[in-house]
Amino acid sequence: MTYIEWFESHAAKHEAIICTLTHLSDEEVIKYFIFENMKEKYPDFCPLYADDKKCHEMEELNCYFCACNHFRFSDEGLSKEGARTRYSLCHINAKESQDFISDDAIHLDCSNCEIPHKKSVIEKYFSRDWRKIMDRTICTIDNKEN
Ligand code: SF4
Repeated sequence: MTYIEWFESHAAKHEAIICTLTHLSDEEVIKYFIFENMKEKYPDFCPLYADDKKCHEMEELNCYFCACNHFRFSDEGLSKEGARTRYSLCHINAKESQDFISDDAIHLDCSNCEIPHKKSVIEKYFSRDWRKIMDRTICTIDNKEN
């Protein structure tokens, strides 16, 4: 699956859930997306739910910002780094960010970063329109510095 395919698929899933939550306040919507509630109500939202596994071992893991608004990607490649093409990066260069590096590709590895799963971060950037928050993660030649 390409980055953009995942993005579109996840945007549609997120929107479908949000449409059912019009009776909740923003604060209640954020609370609704806590791991324990989401795995019960929407077991297909994340492939890890089936195994009762968290992507990050946090006491309060919130799934609203899967993915992260600081992620940047391009399926065509963002830059060349020697013989490799970089396809994704962390816009804020978080200290927890790492790279997956193969012979010809570099992808951002967020597995050690809890930033987008924190309630305070979700509150800071919150919108019921997930696509509006995440649109800047899609990089084209015109918006790489976005
Ligand atoms: S390293 Fe952290 S802040 Fe950066 S894109 Fe990944 S999850 Fe977001």
